[in-house]
Formats: sequence, structure tokens, C-alpha cells
Amino acid sequence: MAKKPIVSDDSVMISLTNVEKIYPGGVVALQDVSLEIHRGEFVFVLGHSGAGKSTFLKLILREEVATTGRVVVGGRDLSKIRQRDIPYLRRGLGVVFQDFRLIPTMTAFENVAFAMRVTNIPEREIKKRVPYVLNLVGLAGKARSFPNELSGGEQQRVALARALVHSPPIIIADEPTGNIDPELSVEIMELLKAINMVGTTVVVVTHEHDLAQRFSERIITIDHGEVVEDAMTERGGEAL
Ligand code: ADP
Repeated sequence: MAKKPIVSDDSVMISLTNVEKIYPGGVVALQDVSLEIHRGEFVFVLGHSGAGKSTFLKLILREEVATTGRVVVGGRDLSKIRQRDIPYLRRGLGVVFQDFRLIPTMTAFENVAFAMRVTNIPEREIKKRVPYVLNLVGLAGKARSFPNELSGGEQQRVALARALVHSPPIIIADEPTGNIDPELSVEIMELLKAINMVGTTVVVVTHEHDLAQRFSERIITIDHGEVVEDAMTERGGEAL
């Protein structure tokens, strides 16, 4: 018999139900968080430092486990996921970090290729796919550059190319503009928007209120571990 889906609606990409996260020592990082993010959405998770944003991300990436409540990502209940399935979960989530996390001794090409090599993708395919994703993020001419030869915005685009290499259904960006100039932040947001337009669900975690207002269709505001607002913005993401 077919397994009953754990979320009734298969357009739900991320779902948290009554989630609480208490760290050892008793810090309540998230409490009673319930939300759903659907396929194709472009969502900002907004909050001050200490609000619980990183904890939210860590639960989705299964780096941390909820103390109570249910976290479902891509149809998988993360409290029940087997250890050996965690890499598959993460492969379906393209993650872009604030500090880029590029390997300094590798070129832009190699940094992106590395993400494919660790999953044993044939070299032939890597040679086709890496230039394609670098081109997608506007870095076709920078394939041979090392991270220290690239601007912050360019490094972030390499990180984005790497996140896109497995065509993940969900892109998660953790403070993607935290280490780059405001004009370049706009470029990165435009790229994320373009990626969203072709159907990828995008979740941006940030403390930058203005950026969220300008680019998002939906802003989920977290404060002291609670969702205090979950609203569609007036512009409906038409800023571009
Ligand atoms: P944000 O990403 O919004 O800055 P975090 O999720 O990092 O917020 O933190 C939320 C709360 O949980 C803060 O009070 C923080 O000090 C606490 N916290 C985060 N990680 C840990 C941890 N590993 N152990 C104990 N407390 C933690």
C-alpha cells in the first residue's frame, strides 16, 4: 500500500508544526513555530540577532533537531529521517552562507565542480554543468579566478552557483548580503529572484528589514523565538 504522505499538500516544501527548540542549558531559541512554505515562494525570514533565525535554518538542514513539534522538508519528517538519508535531504537544499564558504585554494570553477565531485558525478557532466551555472550567475569570464581575486559580490555568486549545481528545489540563503556592498546586495537579490522565477523556492534569512521589504513577497518575522508576523508584502515582490 502506498505510504500516506506526511503533509497532505505536496506543494508544501517546508513545514513546521508547533516547533520548539530548547538548547542544553535551557535557552528557548524557538517556541510554538508553525508555518508552511510552498513550492515557488520567495520568502524572507526576518529577525534581529538572537531572534532564532539560525536555529530555524539548522532545524531545516537537520543540523539540530526540534525539542518538540514537527519539521517536514521536501516530504521528509526530520525527526524520523535516518542518518544515512541526511545527505540526500541536504542535496535538495542549495545553501548560500553569509561568509561564502569557498575553498581559497580552488578556482571558481573548481569550487563549483567540487560540490559535484563529492557526489560522484561523472567528470564529463561536471565539464558541462559548471560553466552553465557560472554563466547563469554572470561569472562566465571568472571561472579561472581564485576567491581572493574576486569581489565579495562575485564570491557570493560563486557560492550561489555552487548551491545551484544540483538544481535543488529549494535555495536557502543565510544573510546572503551580510558581507557585501549594498549595490551588490541588489544584484544578489535579483539573481535569487530570477532563480525563483524559474520555479525554485527561495528562503532568505536576514536581519535587513529594508531588503526584505524591497524584494520579498512574504516576510516571516521572528522575535524572541516566536513568529510575530507572517505577511504578504504590499509590493508582492514586484520590485524588480
Ligand atoms: P539568530 O540567528 O537570529 O541570531 P540564533 O538562532 O542563533 O538567533 O539564537 C537564538 C537563541 O538561541 C539565542 O538566545 C542564542 O544565544 C541561543 N543559542 C543559539 N545556539 C545555541 C546553542 N548551540 N546553545 C545554546 N544556546 C544557543
